Amino acid sequence: MTLPFAPPDYYDIDGLLEEDERLVRDSVRRFVSDRVLPIIAACFRDERFPSELVPAIAELGLFGANLKGYGCAGLGDVAYGLALAELERGDSGLRSFVSVQGSLAMYAIRSCGSGEQKDRWLPRMARGEALGCFGLTEPDFGSNPSGLQTRAELRGDEYVLHGNKMWITNGSIADVAVVWARVDDRIGGFLVERDAPGFSSTVQKGKWSLRASITAELHFDECRIPRSNRLPEARSLGAALACLNQARYGISWGAIGAAQACYCEALEYAKARVQFGRPIAAFQLVQRKLVEMLSGITAAQLRSWRLGRLKESGKSRHQQISLAKRDNVAMALDVAREARDILAANGITDEYQVGRHMANLETVKTYEGTHDIHTLVIGHDITGIPAFGNDDTPRGEGRSPPHRPPGGGLPLPSAR
Ligand SMILES: Cc1cc2nc3c(=O)[nH]c(=O)nc-3n(C[C@H](O)[C@H](O)[C@H](O)COP(=O)(O)OP(=O)(O)OC[C@H]3O[C@@H](n4cnc5c(N)ncnc54)[C@H](O)[C@@H]3O)c2cc1C
Repeated sequence: MTLPFAPPDYYDIDGLLEEDERLVRDSVRRFVSDRVLPIIAACFRDERFPSELVPAIAELGLFGANLKGYGCAGLGDVAYGLALAELERGDSGLRSFVSVQGSLAMYAIRSCGSGEQKDRWLPRMARGEALGCFGLTEPDFGSNPSGLQTRAELRGDEYVLHGNKMWITNGSIADVAVVWARVDDRIGGFLVERDAPGFSSTVQKGKWSLRASITAELHFDECRIPRSNRLPEARSLGAALACLNQARYGISWGAIGAAQACYCEALEYAKARVQFGRPIAAFQLVQRKLVEMLSGITAAQLRSWRLGRLKESGKSRHQQISLAKRDNVAMALDVAREARDILAANGITDEYQVGRHMANLETVKTYEGTHDIHTLVIGHDITGIPAFGNDDTPRGEGRSPPHRPPGGGLPLPSAR
């Protein structure tokens, strides 16, 4: 069901935006209303990724949108965030697809790749002609990726990879996988092309969440890649974590879009649905729910706008991104659950959006560092005491992002 979209903007965030930022947001908003909402419920039901939308997403300049050069749009971080919020208003799976392509795969190549790797991949990826994925998680290593077991060994002019990755977004459709593996007692990044000998993928079916997004296992069995496919600047796990930082910045914005969709649907429904002779919006308990939703969305909007401006001026810290990812996603999940409650029985059908967003947000709460891992990251920051257990490099810990997207003339993060 396609609803006209009038998102809540209680504190006039619009007035804080530049004209070009509003233009980016509005063009993505139109795309979502016209192209995504009419098909997304069926995609979710059928567990189908809407690959037919890829050229239009590329046309909008959304792949690697806040990267500079190589055909990327070079948007500011606030404009990028606004675009992702609009995409996730459509579906978290679609936003995940764009985040993985741009903030994980392209960012890894942009910040850690050789000149030749950047030339080969980035322009095609920006045009949507080549797709990427980012393989860090393994069956036994999620929150603590520093234990990862995938190995790469140099043999002559080739690296030979062994191991398995799991839960990899875009994994089975990617032309290039950015794969993190142990090499010479360190962790390095490798570009594995789809047709590399010994490389295969298996789609993970049966998800209750992110059903319009592809998730796959990656298998490396004596997988041989050219020596030149190693990312030269990815010299430790820190390089992977820096990519995750970029992606979770986008997630913090995306969650606002999902929450806005749920709030708008619940508000419209509450005004139209009559029980006991009155619209349910007339009941105090329902009004309270709507107010709590609006309150959460407004706080998240202000947080993300400020974080975006900090990031643009090179002053954001990875712990601040953790707080935004953690709190905005928790807010969105609360909003989705309350919206589902207001729609009651209708809320569990795919005629409405709230149930889909609610299920999707369960994944968003978990990936890119779980809610609790980010709690510990922030706890570490404010107390100075790590509370992660024996392994002190959990998924949420990372270096602060570079002052600007790579190519902005400022120093790139040094590998740890
Ligand atoms: C749909 C989907 C798409 C994904 N896409 C990608 C992708 O593209 N690339 C990729 O690399 N990964 C991807 N992931 C993986 C995701 O990042 C991991 O699932 C996530 O990091 C959590 O790991 P885990 O599921 O193994 O949970 P675990 O690490 O096993 O955690 C289980 C529970 O224990 C808690 N926990 C763990 N350690 C601690 C601790 N020290 N203190 C307190 N609590 C703790 C966690 O918070 C969680 O609640 C995706 C996941 C999903 C579901």
